[in-house]
Amino acid sequence: MKAHDGIYLDGAWHPAAGQGVIEVVNPADEQVIGEVPAGSAEDVDAAVRAARAALAAWAATPPGERAARLTALRDVLVARKDEIAETVTAELGSPLPFSQAVHAALPIAVAGSYAELAATHSFEEKVGNSTVYHEPIGVVGAITPWNYPLHQIVAKVAPALAAGCTVVLKPAEDTPLTAQLFAEAVHEAGLPAGVFNLVTGLGPVAGQALAEHPGVDLVSFTGSTAVGKQIAATAGAAIKKVALELGGKSANVILPSADLARAVNVGVANVMSNSGQTCSAWTRMLVHSSRYDEAVELAAAAAAKYGDRIGPLVSAKQQARVRGYIEKGVAEGARLVAGGPASPRERGWFVSPTVFADVTPEMTIAQEEIFGPVLSILRYEDEEQALRIANGTVYGLAGAVWAGEEAEAVAFARRMDTGQVDINGGRFNPLAPFGGYKQSGVGRELGAHGLAEYLQTKSLQF
Ligand code: NAD
Repeated sequence: MKAHDGIYLDGAWHPAAGQGVIEVVNPADEQVIGEVPAGSAEDVDAAVRAARAALAAWAATPPGERAARLTALRDVLVARKDEIAETVTAELGSPLPFSQAVHAALPIAVAGSYAELAATHSFEEKVGNSTVYHEPIGVVGAITPWNYPLHQIVAKVAPALAAGCTVVLKPAEDTPLTAQLFAEAVHEAGLPAGVFNLVTGLGPVAGQALAEHPGVDLVSFTGSTAVGKQIAATAGAAIKKVALELGGKSANVILPSADLARAVNVGVANVMSNSGQTCSAWTRMLVHSSRYDEAVELAAAAAAKYGDRIGPLVSAKQQARVRGYIEKGVAEGARLVAGGPASPRERGWFVSPTVFADVTPEMTIAQEEIFGPVLSILRYEDEEQALRIANGTVYGLAGAVWAGEEAEAVAFARRMDTGQVDINGGRFNPLAPFGGYKQSGVGRELGAHGLAEYLQTKSLQF
């Protein structure tokens, strides 16, 4: 795999001031596939200064021209989509067809949506005797996770650039090669020097330096709730704006009138997708007691089919963490009906698709984000209890409701404390706002709502 031994700032690759390196490992076979610099606070400072220097000119660039650059960026991503899929597969471990269909295709769609939004968004409006301007917030510090390596980057960088902001990106240490490929794409698309800068490095070093840097106006973070809390505290002390996409424990509520087989099969597919490493995954399936046994049987059969179709987890650390949760589920009295803690292969950080029945709401596996291919099936007696269970975690990122009539599902979804709900299966919409209620986060990504995160308003009175 191609790896740069520098950081990308001010339009070129430079040697890092930080001396260390980060080894990139293929999670499917545990082979080292490259190494990238572990950037230091000094590298972050240089990148922030480059972003600051480029800000005024980029912010003053007419939105139509910014849109043209984003279109060029989208086109480069399209031209390099096979390389993107191969890179994600190499460093995340996901099967190549999934990398092509999701890890490459999704960010291309999102980049395209922001090329269009940059051209059509109203950055200026009349309100009575005032003109209101929506101006870029400034320099954005973007900190991203490894689970959807390119999507998470594009979901921050594309709206930031569309808004007229400049960016310093600190990607996850597990998946830096995809981030380097993105920097190459930015370069090839002809974005002005300094508008986008990349510092690879460790979270507590480069990530923290970026979050703390006084030259950063907004920190946009996706990752664990624990780190999100730290970033919010740091930013709060400096009255710096934050956008946070954190964890989830989303409920898949199957009402008695639903098409049970479809709801269960789609629900299992949703949890196993990306080996369960999806913040919005429907990890809790809620089924009425009258259909509970049938649902458990269907889910166990569906999970067994995923046996060798899902990829590994991203790292030995995540594998150990997920296996720990499976052991805890057993210890707390849940009934294992598929999978289990044993590693299904000798090499690679694989975990078997796992399904637990007889899960009760207070169990650890019903409360905490596992981030692996593990489904918990819970039982309810009536709708009020289903709602209490669905809303009974600290999270509120996504969810699903299934019912015979759409209106019945919508009525239930409106009472859920969560940011996005799929009705009878739904269909992913890259323009719909995505983000959390409660501890799942602050702010929204995607579409016009995602763009608004990178804008601040000024009004002039006449
Ligand atoms: P993490 O929060 O540690 O890492 C996310 C990003 O934050 C990475 O780029 C990391 O380098 C950076 N980071 C880490 N410590 C930092 C600090 N002190 N200051 C600034 N930046 C810092 O997440 P992880 O360890 O990779 O995964 C742990 C858990 O987080 C997962 O098991 C899962 O529950 C959750 N997670 C959620 C998402 C999501 O999309 N919501 C994505 C990945 C992980």
